[in-house]
Amino acid sequence: MRHVVIDHTRTITVEEAPDPDLTGPDGAIVAIEAATICGSDLHFFDGDIPVGDGLALGHECIGRVVDTGPAVTSVAVGDRVLVSSVAGCGACVGCATGDPVTCVLGPQVFGSGMLGGCQATHVAVPAADFQLLAIPEGIDDDAALLLTDNLATGWAGASRADFRPGETVAVIGLGAVGLCAVRSAVALGAGEVLAFDPVAGRRDRALASGATCPDGPTADAVLAATAGRGAAAVIDAVAIDETLDASFAAVRAGGTVSVIGVHDLNPYPMAMLMSLFRSITLRTTTAPIQQTWGALVPRLLDGSLRTDGIITDRLPLRDAAKGYALAADRSGASLKVLLRPED
Ligand SMILES: [Zn+2]
Ligand SMILES: [Zn+2]
Repeated sequence: MRHVVIDHTRTITVEEAPDPDLTGPDGAIVAIEAATICGSDLHFFDGDIPVGDGLALGHECIGRVVDTGPAVTSVAVGDRVLVSSVAGCGACVGCATGDPVTCVLGPQVFGSGMLGGCQATHVAVPAADFQLLAIPEGIDDDAALLLTDNLATGWAGASRADFRPGETVAVIGLGAVGLCAVRSAVALGAGEVLAFDPVAGRRDRALASGATCPDGPTADAVLAATAGRGAAAVIDAVAIDETLDASFAAVRAGGTVSVIGVHDLNPYPMAMLMSLFRSITLRTTTAPIQQTWGALVPRLLDGSLRTDGIITDRLPLRDAAKGYALAADRSGASLKVLLRPED
């Protein structure tokens, strides 16, 4: 097999590696047809998180099952599947909720050193009945890829933001996850979605998705749009100190800050006293990927949620370094890069 590896100099290469073995009787091997680069992959690329001697990257992929252990019942060899980016044991009370984050054995993430990388030709999937979903008829490749992480994360960020239909929601950061959060907030009935990103091309996509993009600093613009009260919910899809500060300043008293961006390893100095006085709810969410599929698949099939225009660049796997450079550029033109293992 071949897989994408990053080394400590942040160099991306595509390397040969031994074919993966089944992880056990409940495991499966997936021959990958397409994988995507995620904003969280860029934390390795940008050097925010150490990668040691070399790390196989990628946690978002779709493909075809080419081998299963004898205990696998929900998918069979030949099935086209999507792979949850976050894995659980599939057998505990936590996994029974559909949320691998609550797995009592601890969640594992592909392409983070815990499990193999998904930017590869093949990946071994443990507890395949829990991690794999046979791609439903009518779900295209882009939607299937976004169900492995980004749409599930945007949806979780919006559905955990506690707003009621008709209320105002702000979304900070309009990368793939932020754009999915905008579309999810619209689908969940937000009255107005105020969307913020410094890159004009990214704001354009949010505008086309039903958001408005006010000018000016985020908190000032939200306060101006809400008669000084603040938004019922702020979804922070960036989660650097500056956007977290803006989120707390833009949320109304009694509102919710819903964080789905990936902060670096440093602590964030939160103004706890002011949050207490203003009864702010802070939610931080790693998406319960498998749990979201039941809500998302019907919305994708009936068109009330769309995934068009999110994957903007398609490259062969051998051009992974070019793909990472494109993603790291965070331009208006390139939102999300797909890598397809060539024949
Ligand atoms: Zn991801
Ligand atoms: Zn579990």
